[in-house]
Amino acid sequence: MAEHNHVVCTSCGAVNRLPASHDATTGKCGKCGEPLFSGQPAEVSAVQFDRQVGKSGIPVLVDVWAPWCGPCRVMGPQFAAAAAKAEPAMRFIKLNSDAAPELSARLGIRSIPTMLLFQDGHEIARVSGAMSSADILKWATDARRN
Ligand code: ZN
Repeated sequence: MAEHNHVVCTSCGAVNRLPASHDATTGKCGKCGEPLFSGQPAEVSAVQFDRQVGKSGIPVLVDVWAPWCGPCRVMGPQFAAAAAKAEPAMRFIKLNSDAAPELSARLGIRSIPTMLLFQDGHEIARVSGAMSSADILKWATDARRN
């Protein structure tokens, strides 16, 4: 077991090294002072996405969506509710595919909403279609175990 967790700030991108025993729920970024976890999934740019996925010591769950996508808007509050339950053991972020078309192509996104789960910089699972918060949590938990 690692004695420290690397948590990437969603505001400034700084990597915060936290003792594993520390409750990160109330932690603040050592660089910019923003909360490390707000209980709400952060909307990220392509640059922030790469930093979260590449540097996070915790699993990163990405919701790829777009503003015009009806099922995505339905799933938004469900994803947020799941984030509030799963943080700080898991980082929840949202990627607007319209704002990051090159990254969406690199990720091979064919339909939205699609969720991708990353661990240690690698994609370990993905699923497409709107899901309830309970199903999101179950899917992510099962994917981690495998
Ligand atoms: Zn910060």
